[in-house]
Amino acid sequence: MEYDAIVVGAGLFGLATAYHIKELRPEDEVLVLERLSGPGQGNTAKSAALFRAFFSSKTNLALADSSIEFYRHVQEELGHDLGMSFVGYLWLLTSERYEEIKPALNRLAKRGVEYQLYDREHLSRTLGLNVEVSRDEEARMMGLPDIEHGLLIVKAGCLDVDKLVRFYEKEVRERGVEIKYGVEVEELLVEPEKPLGLPGEPLIWQEAHVAGVKTTAGIFRAKKTILATGAWTPTLLDPIGIECHIKAKKRQIFSIKAEGGELKKLLRAEGYNPENCMPVIILPKPSIYIRPVLEEEAFWMGYADEFPREFKVEDEPAPEPQFYEYGIYQVIVKYLPQFKGARPYASWAGQYAYCTLDYQPLVFEEHDVMVVSGGSGSGVMKADAVGRIAAALYAGEEYAELYGGEKFKVSDLGVEERRVEPETLVL
Ligand SMILES: Cc1cc2nc3c(=O)[nH]c(=O)nc-3n(C[C@H](O)[C@H](O)[C@H](O)COP(=O)(O)OP(=O)(O)OC[C@H]3O[C@@H](n4cnc5c(N)ncnc54)[C@H](O)[C@@H]3O)c2cc1C
Repeated sequence: MEYDAIVVGAGLFGLATAYHIKELRPEDEVLVLERLSGPGQGNTAKSAALFRAFFSSKTNLALADSSIEFYRHVQEELGHDLGMSFVGYLWLLTSERYEEIKPALNRLAKRGVEYQLYDREHLSRTLGLNVEVSRDEEARMMGLPDIEHGLLIVKAGCLDVDKLVRFYEKEVRERGVEIKYGVEVEELLVEPEKPLGLPGEPLIWQEAHVAGVKTTAGIFRAKKTILATGAWTPTLLDPIGIECHIKAKKRQIFSIKAEGGELKKLLRAEGYNPENCMPVIILPKPSIYIRPVLEEEAFWMGYADEFPREFKVEDEPAPEPQFYEYGIYQVIVKYLPQFKGARPYASWAGQYAYCTLDYQPLVFEEHDVMVVSGGSGSGVMKADAVGRIAAALYAGEEYAELYGGEKFKVSDLGVEERRVEPETLVL
């Protein structure tokens, strides 16, 4: 049997793609293959599941804002709880950084994007934040800057990524998509467009294409093979000479219980959002993030370190205790002394699938194989839009319609005619 589409990978990108393909082409036979035993167990499961509709780049804003609005619609109008809560992002800024981003903030304000500014006195009173770290000799030695402003991004927060995965999985099953778990794609099946039965086909004078996949459960054929394989994408494309511009980098999260009066008070800090809890806090430099996790009475902390962190595809990357101990912890206690002595009770590591072109998602097709990857650390908040763009490419449409009606040119996320605006509001 030949499927119309085989989607490899049941992470958020793969499931959102399968869902939107069935929205556009309900009659098409779609198969999803996933080597793990359930949906969303790859890097999707490792995510901090933060979202923000606050980007200077029109591309980023369109992808994130429309996806967030879709998730809100799913939760509020369709009644599927996604654990979505708009706790906000509180981005702590030095005076220099504030001056740098001011023009972008003014532009966003004109477009009606909501944010709020707090002064250092407010931050220190409501969060117990040490805004003047430079008084501390150790902090000065570490190069930690003083905080001048807090920028609260209102349309931002976190969700329960497992619930979002389950939503898409249920919907694709109901639309007749077949899903096989525990099936690993070992290689892509490359064949001549017109096979002649000659040994060694495809020969150099034959037009060749990807005709499906060779897996641990046999061969599956498809008109279109769609790789939503995140960080693992190059392992399938390098062997057939397709450059996918995706590279994997380890990312870690450490979970700290809100034990003791001071940490509990911080977790329940009032006045920043309707939940009356601490917003997601992003420190100035290094830009460590701290997410409140109310259901666990805990905080999650992470930091996306760059140089000299290696690019390397790993199936089960391990968190590094010293990354917390000598890195994150040392910085956190300078700004938020409430964390003094706090040790993680859980930690895990996953990988960002970076699109090395510009750190924004990538959707393109070559020789009947499509790539839907490059979440670059913000794939959860953009997954619905990426799924729509991938489905539009599959269906041969020039434009995808994002949730809310905005049209998005499919080739803008491709390779050859790529057109994405660079991002200046990098946290
Ligand atoms: C630590 C961490 C924190 C993050 N935090 C955020 C955040 O706060 N906000 C946000 O928006 N994004 C975040 N992200 C990114 C986000 O999780 C991803 O961009 C998003 O989930 C999309 O993932 P994906 O579907 O592309 O990849 P994955 O979820 O990794 O899915 C790819 C799937 O393909 C399968 N697969 C791979 N190779 C094969 C094969 N050969 N055969 C069969 N199956 C295969 C894998 O098993 C996997 O399930 C974070 C990521 C990490 C690692």
